[in-house]
Formats: sequence, C-alpha cells, structure tokens
Amino acid sequence: MPRLELEVAEVRQETPTIRSVRLSLSGKPFPFKPGQYCLVELSVGEGRGDHTFSIASSPTRPGSLLFATRQSPSAYKQRFFQLKPGDGVAVTGPVGRFVYDETAEHTVLLSGGIGITPLKSMLEYARDRGIDRPINLLYGNRTPAEIAFRQELDALAAAHPTMNVVHVVSQPEGAAEPWRGRTGRINEALIREVVPRPDRARYYICGPPGMVAGLRGVLAQMAVPEANVRIENFEGYD
Ligand SMILES: Cc1cc2nc3c(=O)[nH]c(=O)nc-3n(C[C@H](O)[C@H](O)[C@H](O)COP(=O)(O)OP(=O)(O)OC[C@H]3O[C@@H](n4cnc5c(N)ncnc54)[C@H](O)[C@@H]3O)c2cc1C
Repeated sequence: MPRLELEVAEVRQETPTIRSVRLSLSGKPFPFKPGQYCLVELSVGEGRGDHTFSIASSPTRPGSLLFATRQSPSAYKQRFFQLKPGDGVAVTGPVGRFVYDETAEHTVLLSGGIGITPLKSMLEYARDRGIDRPINLLYGNRTPAEIAFRQELDALAAAHPTMNVVHVVSQPEGAAEPWRGRTGRINEALIREVVPRPDRARYYICGPPGMVAGLRGVLAQMAVPEANVRIENFEGYD
C-alpha cells in the first residue's frame, strides 16, 4: 500500500466544529474507490501521530484528496486544526470495503455529522459518472450550522434529477438560521417516504458507532436484508 508525502493545498472551516484539509497529489497517482479511507499522519509534538480518515473527495476529481474532521481536545486534532497550506502530511492507503456499488437499483446513504465524509465522495462520484439510478442522502445534524458541505451536497442534488438530499435537524430551536426543513431524527417513516421499495435498496450507513447501531436497528425492523446494508463505524467518536 502506498505511503505518500503530500502537501496541504487548502484548509476550510466547514462548520463551527468541522474543518477540511485538501492535500495536493502533485501528479502522483492515487487510485481509490468512493467510500475508502486512509491513515493520515501528522507531526504532533516531538513525534508523529496518525488517524484513520475517510476520503471526502471523489476519484473522478483527481489531483487532490479531501479529509475532514471534527474538533476535539486530542493532540492530533489540535495539530490538524493548525494545518496551513504548504504543510506536509503523509497518507497511507487507500483501505476499506465500504465502497459504493454503482450497479445498485436504488442507493440510500444514511449519515450523521462527520459521517458524511465517505458518502460525499460517493455522491460526487455518482454525479460525475452520470449514474441515473436513484440515490437518496438522509443527513442528520443537531443544528443547521453543523451541516457539513451543505452547499456542495445541495448543488449535487440540484444538478442531478435522480439524486435527492434531505437534511434532518434535531435541535432547530434557537438556531441562528430559522429552520423550515425536517426536524427530529432519521427514522422509519422518513426512509419509507423516500424509498418506494425499502427491501430492494442498497444502504450505506456511516457515522459514530451509536448512530450506526440505531439506524441499523431501524432497517432491521423494516425487514431490509442485512446483505443490502453496508456500514462504516467512526470508532473514536463514542
Ligand atoms: C474507517 C474509519 C473512517 C473514519 N473517518 C473519519 C473521518 O472522515 N473524519 C473523522 O473526523 N473521523 C473519522 N474516523 C474517526 C477518527 O479516526 C478518530 O477516531 C476520531 O476523529 C476521534 O479522534 P480524536 O483525536 O478526537 O480522539 P482520540 O483521542 O484519538 O480517541 C478518543 C477515544 O476513542 C478511542 N479510539 C480512537 N480511535 C479508535 C479506533 N480506531 N477504534 C476504537 N477506539 C478508538 C481512543 O482510545 C479514545 O478512547 C474514522 C474512523 C474509522 C475507523
């Protein structure tokens, strides 16, 4: 598996607590599949530290790799949040079998918070490849301000007739932006509303282990065959 020394090309504060870092591949080949992840190494204090991060960009948009993470008190995250253009970052990968199957009749992406990263890659990939089978993203966040990549996700759906993005906000009260969209949590009723044949769709669930377990339970209650469900647990968030 290749280990590449890359350079930060751009950093963006995506939400009050989520930051993304785009690494330039500088012409180096890095084939990967939408949904895969890497080991991302930074210099932390006297040494180096690594974390597992999903690739948030699509292989159809070569030239760079995008990673995004939520702030925390760990030394690694402190360093990640200080990264600036020109800094060096080592990336090993790609790894993982949580990979988009473009032959599925209907794809449903279920995510909360930072769990959006591999699903964003899948959506961009489907859009760029002109995949014309339905894809739904149901994306839960506490507040409207915490919806990561909101403009990009909404623009993808707007440009692609078979793609649909539904944001679900659990704590709309007191949010700076008045919220007129869905509230509460992703549940069976919402999934049934957007998926005409729930037993026939292919599901990808990604996020903190608690959220993944909850949504897995919802699909089991709906008699969705386990073989139709792929999961990626962001261990370290629960
Ligand atoms: C396949 C995969 C993809 C991921 N993609 C992303 C992503 O795109 N963005 C993102 O922000 N995070 C992602 N994560 C989670 C990420 O690797 C970190 O664990 C998380 O960001 C917490 O980091 P931290 O520095 O705040 O916590 P830390 O201080 O590193 O850890 C917090 C707690 O979690 C435990 N822990 C840490 N890592 C693991 C682990 N792998 N398994 C079990 N326990 C663990 C620690 O022991 C500690 O108790 C991913 C994880 C996996 C496994």
